[in-house]
Amino acid sequence: MKRRTALKNLGLGISAGMLAPQFFSACKKDDPGPEIPYSGNVIVIGAGAAGLYAADILRSKGISVTVLEAGTQPGGRVRSLRNQTDVQYQTFSSASQADFPVELGAEVIFGSNSSWGKVVSDFSIATVDMSASASPSYILDGQAKSATGWQGDSDFQAVQGFVSGLSNVGSNGSIKDAANVSPRAQALLNSQAGNIFGSSAENISALGVAQMLKAQTHDSKQLTMRNNPWQDVLLSRFVNVLPLIKLNTEVKAIDWSGDVITLTDAKGVQHTCTKLIVAVPLSILKSGAITFSPSLPSPNANALSKFGMDACIRLVLDFKKNFWGLDSSYIWGGTTVPQYFNSGAGRSQFFRTMSLTINGPKAQQLSGLSDDNMVLQVLAEMDSIYNGQGTGFIRRDLTDDRILSLVKDWTKDPFIKGGISYPLVGTTNDDRKALASPANDRLYFAGEATDATGDAGTVSGALNSAIRVTDEIIKSIVNP
Ligand SMILES: Cc1cc2nc3c(=O)[nH]c(=O)nc-3n(C[C@H](O)[C@H](O)[C@H](O)COP(=O)(O)OP(=O)(O)OC[C@H]3O[C@@H](n4cnc5c(N)ncnc54)[C@H](O)[C@@H]3O)c2cc1C
Repeated sequence: MKRRTALKNLGLGISAGMLAPQFFSACKKDDPGPEIPYSGNVIVIGAGAAGLYAADILRSKGISVTVLEAGTQPGGRVRSLRNQTDVQYQTFSSASQADFPVELGAEVIFGSNSSWGKVVSDFSIATVDMSASASPSYILDGQAKSATGWQGDSDFQAVQGFVSGLSNVGSNGSIKDAANVSPRAQALLNSQAGNIFGSSAENISALGVAQMLKAQTHDSKQLTMRNNPWQDVLLSRFVNVLPLIKLNTEVKAIDWSGDVITLTDAKGVQHTCTKLIVAVPLSILKSGAITFSPSLPSPNANALSKFGMDACIRLVLDFKKNFWGLDSSYIWGGTTVPQYFNSGAGRSQFFRTMSLTINGPKAQQLSGLSDDNMVLQVLAEMDSIYNGQGTGFIRRDLTDDRILSLVKDWTKDPFIKGGISYPLVGTTNDDRKALASPANDRLYFAGEATDATGDAGTVSGALNSAIRVTDEIIKSIVNP
């Protein structure tokens, strides 16, 4: 199937300014190489970044591969507003003034030379370096100020010192205990070293995060894409895999007792393979939504209990005016919203749209409210920080006066059930290796949670896991 046709069939377009994959000059992991003779076949469960890349590598080696995806679209937690057909999204999209691609999931490229950073530069996608075009604000005592504004404040310095030295923290306790900052600075700590890793500071292992950061080999740049929706880029990169995906195919049961593995989907249809890659979110495995027969091997099952994947909400708000600062990037330290992101920074004329990410217990609490009440709680926090300007400048629908907002509650997505994986207190990076360990040369694991190279919780982590898992499979075929 031709690239455009494949994308069109999946209801997705290619955004402007993208070069077709055949124009790439860089040699990549999945460039066609010598075919690997293998009479069996591989099934990948999950068409997120990990599953797509794993399938692409195997396909390029001549191995027969199919991807089973529960949802209606590929991409997983890479999901762009522009590609959604849902009425709620379309209403927001048409009324919003955002003149840049709005993302429901991943939106920041961590590391210009990370796995995802390299895909983006291979495609010659225009990016914006956040640190060069904007800087964060920090909330203490209910006031948001720049780092310069807080200079000399010892609580502010304590949090920044902890965050910048986090990769060297040796404490086996929680981030909260390891940081030991004053009550006044707890929300700031929680934003910068809790929410960003998928939960709150009291739930996350300091050592687990430290080891993760230490293992990273890429630079610390943070980029956004100037014009292109992430889902377009991901699917264009893996265009050759799109015809291999079976959408609306939720795997419910895996029988891996014999040489041939049998999968049963929600419609009762059976699929067979000789090697299986499970690339679903950690939360799906933890919830028992997929049954394994025999049950998961103990190294994987034990490791599974050492990670969390908490509630997660993305909220996008449109304002009539930017009152939080044209050059601000993140606003850290909110108690209702730990991460406000001025997502138009460096790429918008208007700077009037905010993208909020709420993880962990706070997201769990907000998830219990109606969307309207959730937005009102958020505006109440903005009002208290910015003298009523949140409610004052929020844009409303001209016809029915409803507040213009978009809520994506990932917790309620039946095939994602949360945000990103994180290490529970006492967990180390080695536990990710155990989570990823293959069983009997038949059962393999991928996905961001299984990345032990420092990028878990990100798109690069998902891509890294695909490289690892396909190496494992290819080795098992070449040296049975
Ligand atoms: C709100 C939010 C913000 C984020 N921000 C960033 C960011 O700025 N930068 C960044 O790099 N990363 C970010 N991330 C993380 C990033 O999106 C993920 O780490 C990455 O996309 C995960 O890819 P994956 O392939 O491991 O899993 P997923 O993308 O979750 O793919 C798994 C797939 O499995 C499917 N599936 C589930 N159950 C079944 C089943 N039973 N049968 C068949 N299929 C099934 C799902 O539908 C899904 O498509 C963010 C995530 C969220 C939620």
